Amino acid sequence: MRSNMKSYYKLCVLISLVVSGGTNPIAPPEDGESIAENYLNRLYGLPQQTSSNTERRSSAMSLRLKEMQQFFGLKMTGKLNEETLKVMKKPRCGVPDVAAYSTFAGDYKWKKHDLTYRIENYTPDMSEAEVDDSIKKALQVWADVTPLRFTRLYSGTADIMISFVVRDHRDGYPFDGPNGFLAHAFPPYEGIGGDAHFDDDETFMYRSPQGYNLFLVAAHEFGHSLGLEHSKDPGALMYPTYVYRDADTFSLPQDDVNGIQSLYGKILQIAYTGDGSKYPESDVSNDLIYHQTGPNTDFNPDPKPTPPVTPNTCDPNLVLDAVTMLRGEIIFFKGSFFWRSYPQSTTVEQHLIKSFWPEIPEYIDAAFESPLADKVFLIKGGKVWALYGYDMVQGYPKSLSMFGLPKNVKKINAVLYDESSYKILFFVDSQVYSYDEEKRRMEKGYPKPVDVVFPGMTGKVTAAFQHRGFNYLFSGSKMFEFGSFNKLYRVLNNNYFLPC
Ligand SMILES: [Zn+2]
Ligand SMILES: [Zn+2]
Repeated sequence: MRSNMKSYYKLCVLISLVVSGGTNPIAPPEDGESIAENYLNRLYGLPQQTSSNTERRSSAMSLRLKEMQQFFGLKMTGKLNEETLKVMKKPRCGVPDVAAYSTFAGDYKWKKHDLTYRIENYTPDMSEAEVDDSIKKALQVWADVTPLRFTRLYSGTADIMISFVVRDHRDGYPFDGPNGFLAHAFPPYEGIGGDAHFDDDETFMYRSPQGYNLFLVAAHEFGHSLGLEHSKDPGALMYPTYVYRDADTFSLPQDDVNGIQSLYGKILQIAYTGDGSKYPESDVSNDLIYHQTGPNTDFNPDPKPTPPVTPNTCDPNLVLDAVTMLRGEIIFFKGSFFWRSYPQSTTVEQHLIKSFWPEIPEYIDAAFESPLADKVFLIKGGKVWALYGYDMVQGYPKSLSMFGLPKNVKKINAVLYDESSYKILFFVDSQVYSYDEEKRRMEKGYPKPVDVVFPGMTGKVTAAFQHRGFNYLFSGSKMFEFGSFNKLYRVLNNNYFLPC
């Protein structure tokens, strides 16, 4: 048993995994209020309902709700709205987020660099070799950027004991059946510290976007096993909710690299070690971790890609991919992310595209809202996806030719929808095409040069949208504001609508 109180507390908060949107055939359907209570109780320290003092209860609840909303970058209303409930229903890690507010760094870390792990049992969802490989790769994610080394044990007690369990598994933090909480792990400590438990009521997968990818879940949990807390960065591996990413191309995001290196430091240099004789004690998995190249390993010798960085609205060199209205909100796309901005609020939320729409590609070319179709269209390459509100529309992607563009147009740089005339302007290199959405045909006389349609617009248009009667054309890190008759009013920084 742990004797350290702080550790015990942390563990307590740590282990509850959360709610999910999945249907559980055994449990009765829960209403929003009880989902929220359960969520805040397990993850945000909301005390169990004990007294009948409803006033005190609702103020405690409101406080926890605000904390939770702040963590996820939602509007801090302290009220349970659709938006908040939606986040609560996402599958996630069972470790609480609230501990992230404490100055935890340094308190929980291993005092050694050579760590051991043991896989105690297997899930029936995958072959044993697939589980072994997923676990090894998940540890390697952290070993790649720190001096940590992991050795597998097949018996006895390892620092990180890995098991697949269901429901109550005698650590005080029962799992919840399918979805909801996927796994939890304990911070570095003796005994149960470092251990990682996976909810075997989930369907874990090896290389499929269906179910939950074991590598991704395990890599996140091992972050906890090594002492990391949850991150508020929606692009971080240590973000609490599960988002599918391609495991083959996964690269540890910069936020996580910073976190783990603040605990364990970094590798100063990785030298080629030939046959590995420099590390005579190392087993194959250590070879994989330590030797970037060398014979008899299946380690990918390609240099590691630079860690992905979550885009920042304060970056003076920020170049947006696409901007569109979506039912009164403004949506800004950049790489794997988008921001949503509410005109009535200074809050801007940032999310991974894949966390909302797994089917939509990243790094999109253009986006626009059509009030006529009541849809938002997203374009990448020759393909078009459609959203109705925040829902994907079935039957897409469709070909770009649905807008009557000539066949030689393979890539759109930006699209502007003019609400007053129902014209859709497509920016293709230095040309503009105009599609009449009412008459469903290309307008005669187009394409025209951009600077003929928008005098003063000199560079390439990279994104565009219309807002309150103004046309906004983005070019690199600048934004051009055009008023009536396409008269250029102002040239602004392109984070004008994104509070920095
Ligand atoms: Zn977690
Ligand atoms: Zn457990």
